[in-house]
Amino acid sequence: MFEIKLKMKHLFYCLSFLIITISCTTQPKQEEKIMSTPTQVNDFAIVIHGGAGTILKKNMTPEKEKEYIAKLEEAVKLGYTILKEGGTSADAVEKTIQVMEESPLFNAGKGAVFTNEETNELDASFMDGKTLNAGAVAGVKDIKSPIAAARKVMTNSNHVMLSGKGASIFAKKEGLEIVDPSYFFTERRFKSLQRIKDKEKTEQDHDDQKAAFYDADIKNAKFGTVGCVALDKSGTITAGTSTGGMTNKRWGRIGDAPIIGSGTYANNKTCGVSSTGWGEYFIRAQVAHDISAQMEYKNATLKNAADDVIQNKLTKLGGTGGIIAIDKLGNIVYEFNTAGMYRASMDDKGSLDVKIYKD
Ligand code: ASP
Repeated sequence: MFEIKLKMKHLFYCLSFLIITISCTTQPKQEEKIMSTPTQVNDFAIVIHGGAGTILKKNMTPEKEKEYIAKLEEAVKLGYTILKEGGTSADAVEKTIQVMEESPLFNAGKGAVFTNEETNELDASFMDGKTLNAGAVAGVKDIKSPIAAARKVMTNSNHVMLSGKGASIFAKKEGLEIVDPSYFFTERRFKSLQRIKDKEKTEQDHDDQKAAFYDADIKNAKFGTVGCVALDKSGTITAGTSTGGMTNKRWGRIGDAPIIGSGTYANNKTCGVSSTGWGEYFIRAQVAHDISAQMEYKNATLKNAADDVIQNKLTKLGGTGGIIAIDKLGNIVYEFNTAGMYRASMDDKGSLDVKIYKD
């Protein structure tokens, strides 16, 4: 009996020793895993969008598709070249967005949608991820490049957002091009407004019905806002967004595009984001900042954070649209809950990706 007890005791000591040894040798490995620094995926990278929405192949002619692809390619390649040659992400974002602002294909600059009053009112924003400095313009009617104006607000004023006439006065003082409002006119966008107005006329009898009709119309809309996020060789992320807003908007409605944290956000510690979609929902969900915050506070990856914000939170709220983003490691992410999103990106190896539909 005594012998058995002794053997048991011996076994107990042996087991304890084994457990302690195993836990001591595995502990540092786990810590190493947690502490190990993630590797840089791209030293520089660029991603753009030209809006999300009900973009279906069956509704697209091969010619239109080619036009969109060519313009997205032209824009992203310009930004890529700036970054490759050592330029700043701020220059890459501004110049890339300007290519899309000057194209009537997108709902930004020339090609902006019409308000209920048959005018064009443009919004844009710009953010530097290194300093967290930001600038925006809202409801401007005669600034040729709203994205350039947003950048100037960031660099040359003490403010973050300027609106309407005041923004135009500031832009003019800064030497930016002021155009006659008719510069923004395009037949296609004007017809879209007329179509919506005609539908509204047939729905005069009941206000609720009218509102529901308007909502259904938005749900099926194409959001043609443009945006760009770039990471440069110095590690600075810049994000920018430019838009005409939503067709038939009224009462000086401002969307998410000029709202820092909703339409645009950049932080070198996390990522840069540019949004497109039904602006009211993007404002309420604070889409761009929420993605960054999940990375900062929850240690989420960019992909997981974007997926949660767009596919879970925004979708549950009833919002439609998408985002483009780049994190500090150069990972590029697109995320949207619509049928399509005009989008393109280039990494530091020069590999180009241009897409319209859901894959
Ligand atoms: N987000 C824009 C807005 O609500 C619309 C768009 O993305 O096209 O003003």
